[in-house]
Amino acid sequence: MLASLAPRSDFPLLAANPGMHYLDSAATSQKPAAVLNAIHEFYATANANPHRGAYALSARATDLYHDARATVARFVGVADSDCVVFTRGTTEAMNLVASSWGRANVQAGDEIVVTALEHHANFVPWQQLAIATGATLRIVELTPQQTIDLEQLRAVVTTRTKLVAITHVSNAVGAITPLAEVVHLVRARSAAVIVVDGAQAVPHLPVPFDALGIDFYAFSGHKLLAPMGIGCLIGRRALLESMPPYQFGGDMIEWVRDTECTWNVIPHKFEAGTPNAADAVGLAAAIRYLEALGMANVRAHEVALLERAEERVRALPGVTVYGPPPAQRSGVLSFSLADVHPHDLATILDQHGVCIRAGHHCAQPLMRRLGVSATARASFYVYNDERDVDALVGALEAAQRIFAAD
Ligand code: PMP
Repeated sequence: MLASLAPRSDFPLLAANPGMHYLDSAATSQKPAAVLNAIHEFYATANANPHRGAYALSARATDLYHDARATVARFVGVADSDCVVFTRGTTEAMNLVASSWGRANVQAGDEIVVTALEHHANFVPWQQLAIATGATLRIVELTPQQTIDLEQLRAVVTTRTKLVAITHVSNAVGAITPLAEVVHLVRARSAAVIVVDGAQAVPHLPVPFDALGIDFYAFSGHKLLAPMGIGCLIGRRALLESMPPYQFGGDMIEWVRDTECTWNVIPHKFEAGTPNAADAVGLAAAIRYLEALGMANVRAHEVALLERAEERVRALPGVTVYGPPPAQRSGVLSFSLADVHPHDLATILDQHGVCIRAGHHCAQPLMRRLGVSATARASFYVYNDERDVDALVGALEAAQRIFAAD
């Protein structure tokens, strides 16, 4: 019996629902008490508007917010914590780059390269930037195992390419992108800026931003045990400094005159308004929790669960599993059962206490290429154990009995 990596009792929602098999962490993760307590603690002991007051309480709030940024920087291998911009999540981070860097640097005749594997958050901002600027959107196709076709990428990237937007890990099928190869290939052919969607990578793999040699990286806290509404854009200093602000208001300015402004230094230039300090503190607590587990252990745990789940799910009649083999995936098992719509499947599984995702996973370009409108997706994390796999397989067998009887 494969035990969970993190005790289920650390997670109030799971502890309160012993019969629940939560297999939807790719959508959002459950939160440990350590994170909930850190948020409560911020409001109970340190609540003041950061950066605004000359009094001790405000200084404490400011320090906690800055410590949270430093914790993120350490976790994702960024030496210069000024290069970590807090956002609402991956979606806002991508929109920030598209609006700010994109509008300032992309013009008609340029090309923007994305892949068919992207979540809409890393597809639509680039599609819309192309429409607004007259640039051409080029879409890299996939291999039969739904990994990014690197030969295609090689063919598509040229000196006209201004930006390559690519996912580190697919949310829909779990495929992990070999980023080092991508960077090598793009750098050899173009001066393109490389933007990476790390929403499904940072929760599951060690991510060394500085060593990867990319330009921008985005992720969302809520997928790594932290609250919703906080995430990060990480960028290279020279790029962030060269970019115009994304939003205007308090905190992001240096001086405001009647007819002009000067901007604050990074990261503040991109953090207009009162920051989400409490959730940044929650994110730092989640990172400390994951660091205590060890990211190598997190990865090993997910692969072990995934391998067991995949072997047993594949043994069921009429199953199609999407994506490359488990060792090349994060903890995502995306599949379909012949003649059963994924939504019906998810509803039946719910009656067995098994929470999975059914749908297009905000990846409609991929679904179209798979020739389906939806898949069923079970995703594993640190609090899952082999009983969750047993429950998933048992519920799938029950669903098959129901549909066979129809
Ligand atoms: N990219 C990927 C790969 C994702 O899985 C998600 C969330 N499902 C996003 C981007 C968007 O993240 P958020 O909704 O937290 O902004």
